[in-house]
Amino acid sequence: MNKAMQSPCTRCQKPRIISKTWTETIETYSGKSVITHTETICPDPECQLVVDKQLTASRERNAQAKEDREKRMAQRMQANAASKFAASAAAAEEASK
Ligand SMILES: [Zn+2]
Repeated sequence: MNKAMQSPCTRCQKPRIISKTWTETIETYSGKSVITHTETICPDPECQLVVDKQLTASRERNAQAKEDREKRMAQRMQANAASKFAASAAAAEEASK
């Protein structure tokens, strides 16, 4: 569970240090659950700056990819709904014969 604490910096492989921890309470279908977040940074501030930049860039890419995926998913669901409708219409027709 504490893997994040031991994971080394992706750039310089120095063991990362914890910059902050915080807890978050989220509502789930089975009740409330508390998640502990840990943010780790590289002990080398210059290295951390570079890592931050890379992270921001990849986050932006991920956000874009997620948007694309959601768009495709919505299209697929529409197509599915349409074909289901067609199938049930055909079945109803079949049953009425
Ligand atoms: Zn580093």
